[in-house]
Amino acid sequence: LSRRVPEPPGEDEIAQLARTANETLDRLERAVARQRQFASDASHELRTPIAGLRANLEDASMHPDDTDLERTITSALRDTDRLESIVTDLLLLARIGTGGSTAQEPIDLAELADAELRRRGSDLAVHTRLASGVVVRGVRMQLVRLLGNLLDNAERYAGGKVEIEVAGLDGHARLTITDDGAGIPVEDRERVFERFTRLDTARSRSAGGTGLGLAIAREIAQAHGGSLRIEDHPRGARFALSLPLA
Ligand code: ADP
Repeated sequence: LSRRVPEPPGEDEIAQLARTANETLDRLERAVARQRQFASDASHELRTPIAGLRANLEDASMHPDDTDLERTITSALRDTDRLESIVTDLLLLARIGTGGSTAQEPIDLAELADAELRRRGSDLAVHTRLASGVVVRGVRMQLVRLLGNLLDNAERYAGGKVEIEVAGLDGHARLTITDDGAGIPVEDRERVFERFTRLDTARSRSAGGTGLGLAIAREIAQAHGGSLRIEDHPRGARFALSLPLA
């Protein structure tokens, strides 16, 4: 891939064509490098629970009468859960935006948020300001997942106190989720959307995080023609989702 078209001097059509070809090659090369990095990160993430699982199984097979067998099994099941979450998230990430059988429908954001909060029960102390009639076109399951990932994080990294707001604004639907935690430093606000980025690895893992939640959430927002970013807020973290109105 690293071969380049020789760029003749001047500004004629040939020179421009050569430059465009090289820029395209550069972009492709960067994309391939990102994919390679992703594959390597994913393998690394899968390796940890696999190693745990192996250790537990070896332990159990060497000391089958051990009274700790129950603990060994519990730990092996935890590693299995972890493997399952990572693989599920990886598959989801690969599918978003590829079309397929993902039917779009009109979705009222206030209703969606309300339904999701009800479904989740009362782990979160939620304050809502949901304007009605803010309707977008989207894949319901994906938007539920996006919202769910942000709520999971509010539970994991904050006190669980959350404010959710839905509003229509300049032809866009805007949904914000604000929590009461430590927030996210300005210099990390883009990085946290990258796959497997964690600011606090131990906490994220022990809370069941795969490090893919925000990457998935942003991918879903973009597949819907919108955006997801972190906004300044005096306290805690504020995630703002913007989607085109239906
Ligand atoms: P994870 O599975 O680790 O939660 P995410 O992609 O959802 O992965 O989040 C990436 C990282 O961003 C987290 O590990 C955490 O360090 C940070 N983060 C996400 N949401 C919040 C939040 N509401 N408050 C503070 N930090 C957060």
